Amino acid sequence: MAQVRSRDTVPEVLVRRHLFSLGFRYRLGTRVDFVKPDIVLPAWDYCIFVHGCFWHRHDGCRMTTTPKSNEDYWREKFRTNRRRDRRNLRYLAECGWSTGVIWECAVRTGEFRAIDYDRLIRGSLRRRHWEVHSRRYTRRRKIAGGRGITHTRP
Ligand SMILES: [Zn+2]
Repeated sequence: MAQVRSRDTVPEVLVRRHLFSLGFRYRLGTRVDFVKPDIVLPAWDYCIFVHGCFWHRHDGCRMTTTPKSNEDYWREKFRTNRRRDRRNLRYLAECGWSTGVIWECAVRTGEFRAIDYDRLIRGSLRRRHWEVHSRRYTRRRKIAGGRGITHTRP
């Protein structure tokens, strides 16, 4: 076991269990062409990512620290990660998938449980991209209505 299996990281397991308890059924390890979402909900055309705040550079989040040494290495690494994330979300939207990102900070604080996923995934807000943030870890005015969710068009 030399390799860490990223798809079994704890935040992802917690999100998976929570969605399952709400009645959502998903597939794991499913690829959409070159994109490998953490959770795929085929019945709802939904792909969900559980993003680590550090690696995926959650904007304005306390967990998004930057190492002090090897700055060039990290800058390049983060830029590559961000570019890949943007490209993946854009590609999925083009293929007709809706997408959601649940940030690690919201999982860590448990705030992700307060989100109305029925409404986001099954209901009136379908066909959008949304992101779930921690209100305790982030200082973004953008976070709509103080509920810890941002919405954008795909
Ligand atoms: Zn965060």
